[in-house]
Amino acid sequence: MDRRQFLYLSGGIITLGACKKSNPEILQKKLTFPIHIDSNSKTGHLVKSAIELPITSNLRTETLIVGGGIAGLSAACSSPSKDFMVCELNTRLGGTSSALSINNTLYSQGAHYEHTYLQNYGKDGLKLLEKLQVIKFNSYTNLWDFVDQQHLISSEQETACYVHGEMKPSVLLNSELRKNFFDLLSQFKGDFPLPSTLIPSELHYLDHITFYDYLNKYLPIDGSFINAIDYQMLDDYGGTSKQVSALAGIHYYTCRPYYSNQSIELFSPVEGNYYFINKMANQIPSENLHCNHLVFGLKKEMNRWHIDVLDTKNMIRKKVIANTVVYAGQKHALRYVYPLAFPQFKDVSYTPWVVINIAVSNDIKLPNSKWQNDFISTDTTFLGFADSKIQNPNNNRVLTAYYCFPDMHHYSVQHLETSYEAIVHETIKKISDYYKKDISSAVQEVYIKLLGHAMPMPKTGYLTTSRKLSIDGLAFAGADTGRLPLLFDALDSGIQASKMISNTEI
Ligand SMILES: Cc1cc2nc3c(=O)[nH]c(=O)nc-3n(C[C@H](O)[C@H](O)[C@H](O)COP(=O)(O)OP(=O)(O)OC[C@H]3O[C@@H](n4cnc5c(N)ncnc54)[C@H](O)[C@@H]3O)c2cc1C
Repeated sequence: MDRRQFLYLSGGIITLGACKKSNPEILQKKLTFPIHIDSNSKTGHLVKSAIELPITSNLRTETLIVGGGIAGLSAACSSPSKDFMVCELNTRLGGTSSALSINNTLYSQGAHYEHTYLQNYGKDGLKLLEKLQVIKFNSYTNLWDFVDQQHLISSEQETACYVHGEMKPSVLLNSELRKNFFDLLSQFKGDFPLPSTLIPSELHYLDHITFYDYLNKYLPIDGSFINAIDYQMLDDYGGTSKQVSALAGIHYYTCRPYYSNQSIELFSPVEGNYYFINKMANQIPSENLHCNHLVFGLKKEMNRWHIDVLDTKNMIRKKVIANTVVYAGQKHALRYVYPLAFPQFKDVSYTPWVVINIAVSNDIKLPNSKWQNDFISTDTTFLGFADSKIQNPNNNRVLTAYYCFPDMHHYSVQHLETSYEAIVHETIKKISDYYKKDISSAVQEVYIKLLGHAMPMPKTGYLTTSRKLSIDGLAFAGADTGRLPLLFDALDSGIQASKMISNTEI
């Protein structure tokens, strides 16, 4: 194990360990504000009790859609039939693009931005976004524009970086190495579209080496350069350069002109990518959307799909018979829901994330705060925080912190459900360090979202493994079907799943 890997592992353990032992130093100050926890850890128990319940309701539908995240809802919006039913196990739609309401305003609790650079994006997703009136084509510039321009974050307001105690202009600092890095990747410009399924097959060989090995082959990389690359890979993909493939790594830097001289704005409403969820949900009749509905069994019998559903609010077990199914829930659960299909997804590793929304008093002055405040330290699980004041100065201020834990730490993350004080203290302390100002007395309320199997990591082999995504009237959708963990890939996967089950063009 090299030092970097050691820090990566110990970073996870430091925070979790601190939570377990309730480090007295960290806990010196008593928490004086309410803390709310949102977690899905009870799902397993629900399934056990559901199996014992009698079936009290029988329903029929043309298509049952499992999951109300981006992929499930894009499948619903692309459905040629109006006869479909979306089952989402949570109380709210959104999945990893969810939001929570604080003082009647929605704040992101997961994915929170999309790029405005849509030139390399595939036509199906763009067509759906246009239909949803999210984007419109600008015939003067020949480019797609977001309709709600008020949600654009200008490049000056975008990012500040705190690197081992010092503010820096960028995570990847200007250097000869940085220049050579972009020169090396420039050969791929234009070849890396989104969705990732459109990447030309001649480039698939890049999926079989790690990004680290690829860079190490061509460049004299050093520790601080790799730390910066790792930070960016963790931030978007949930894995370090030694885990993610070169295909994923190069895609990150070449699909959108991250580091060109073009000034690219970001699209980031206060509610984050829940904005897209809301746009799609508004197109779907409310009677087709069923939150608090857990799908816990799928079986094909007599040419029809027989689906076991638990209404978790009323603890009612329902049997749904459907001609077709779109499965847009996380695939790791297939081992219980539909074990026959699980083997083709068993290579998918998910990284757990923890999102902490900290509502602070509007009176606090935080000069130089940016939309995204990157944070690089020895605790590599903490990736920084976003400031809602930059998105909308009229709303209450909420600072949203992001933690990404190593992929083997799912169960430790669940531990935070009961031992959360230390991570709250740690987060407030880190944000205070960032601003060089103690923000603790301004904190009003804290909301923690534990996302167990949150992000499918594009490690080597993941993007190009052949998977059968349509079996006998059942199609799989979701970012975790061998796609990049990005909004547009998830959106496209739902559209393609809908096509697969209906054999139609939308
Ligand atoms: C913390 C975080 C930040 C991110 N930030 C960004 C970003 O800024 N920009 C970006 O482009 N991407 C971002 N991503 C990635 C993006 O969120 C995802 O790619 C996308 O939202 C995935 O959508 P999905 O529908 O595939 O899956 P999910 O969002 O995981 O949705 C799956 C849904 O299915 C439901 N479900 C699962 N099983 C069942 C069942 N058996 N019965 C009923 N319902 C079920 C789940 O509850 C969930 O709602 C981020 C991801 C994370 C975790």
